[in-house]
Amino acid sequence: MTYKHAYNGSCHCENITLTFRSDKPVHELPPRECSCSFCQRHKGKYISDPDGCLELNIKDNDLVNRYRFGHKTADFIICKNCGVFVASLCDIDGNTHAVLNIRTMPDYEFSGTPVTNNYGAEDKGDRLARRAKNWIGRVVINSI
Ligand SMILES: [Zn+2]
Repeated sequence: MTYKHAYNGSCHCENITLTFRSDKPVHELPPRECSCSFCQRHKGKYISDPDGCLELNIKDNDLVNRYRFGHKTADFIICKNCGVFVASLCDIDGNTHAVLNIRTMPDYEFSGTPVTNNYGAEDKGDRLARRAKNWIGRVVINSI
């Protein structure tokens, strides 16, 4: 499958590098913020495209933390070496979905109308349904 755009990013030490492919240009990828206590601490800003593809390339898997909290339905991928929070992954019906932290991609000006969301009222089913619809629908994890 080919996409019009490929966006590259990484954690600070480059143990985790990534390519996000999408047909959308930067101005059609509005960053979203989340009001949860984890995202506020990281000042994470997220993009996703359900028709896009996220490729994560991991050098040393022992240096990757998969942090879980709350409903424990998502893995927050954090590099243990440099501390950068890269992406959240969620398995739904055998398929992995993702949102990407644009803090890992300083080379691009993602824009559009920023949105701050408060997902606190969602139950587990609401949350998985929202992710299945909105998050990046294809995730590939490579060991390099
Ligand atoms: Zn790192």
